[in-house]
Amino acid sequence: MIIEELTVTAFQQHTRIVGCDKTRRAICIDPGDDSESIGRAIEQHGLELQAIVCTHAHLDHIGGVAALKRLKPDAKVLIHQADEWIYEGLPEQPSWIGIPRSQWAALGFNFEPPPRIDQYLQDGQIYKLGELEFTIIHCPGHTPGHVVLFERKERKVFVGDVLFAGSVGRTDLPGGSTEQLLDSIMKKLLPLGDDVTVYSGHGPLTTIGEERRGNPFLTGALSIGGGAKFQKVCLGEYSASWWPQTTLFQFFPKLTLFRVGDGRLSLPICSSVMTLLRFEVVV
Ligand SMILES: [Zn+2]
Ligand SMILES: [Zn+2]
Repeated sequence: MIIEELTVTAFQQHTRIVGCDKTRRAICIDPGDDSESIGRAIEQHGLELQAIVCTHAHLDHIGGVAALKRLKPDAKVLIHQADEWIYEGLPEQPSWIGIPRSQWAALGFNFEPPPRIDQYLQDGQIYKLGELEFTIIHCPGHTPGHVVLFERKERKVFVGDVLFAGSVGRTDLPGGSTEQLLDSIMKKLLPLGDDVTVYSGHGPLTTIGEERRGNPFLTGALSIGGGAKFQKVCLGEYSASWWPQTTLFQFFPKLTLFRVGDGRLSLPICSSVMTLLRFEVVV
């Protein structure tokens, strides 16, 4: 399997070109921006782009779809139907995350309407790419139509914004649900197997096993709501690669969060800051 990664947008989103090394057929997963570089990488590897696959429709994952489709008009645009309204809403999405309209141009957020969707991805569908076979798994929660792509033989899963090294996707944007997100992770991702490598939309690579054992949102170090059994939890060196404050607060709306140590806090929207923070959580 060929995997070429480009990190794009102010959100440091990992766009990936994934190809079959035998047949040279490829897909681009989540072209967030910079479609010219994506096009060049496809050419350099001698690949033929058969589809643009969107794990979900947030702007940092689909912002480059229109330009890439113009470069590669034969590539089909694939996404789950439940994210179609978010996809169609691309030009307005910057307002969802609170960015003033006056700043859109400077940030590169003046999006044109995205191109027509060619095909809807379905839960359980096997998507063939040359000799590779991806199982499409619907994992709602971060968005209603979020899917992940699992290559069983290669033991790799492309998870978009469902799961990160040490964290999980935020659920406070339109259509998000914390319960659904955790359900998706527990019932659909963890059973794939501890050996499976996880390719997240942001942050470093990880494995299902590492997250099952160490991710505070999954281990019960943080348990949702109800009773708040513990007085105090020290998360120790929590890897703040992704929205640490937002995610902690969505799980514990009433918690008091103290920052200890001298790490930087990240942007409220998302973060490319890979600083280790130490949190003490008092509920
Ligand atoms: Zn997202
Ligand atoms: Zn993202």
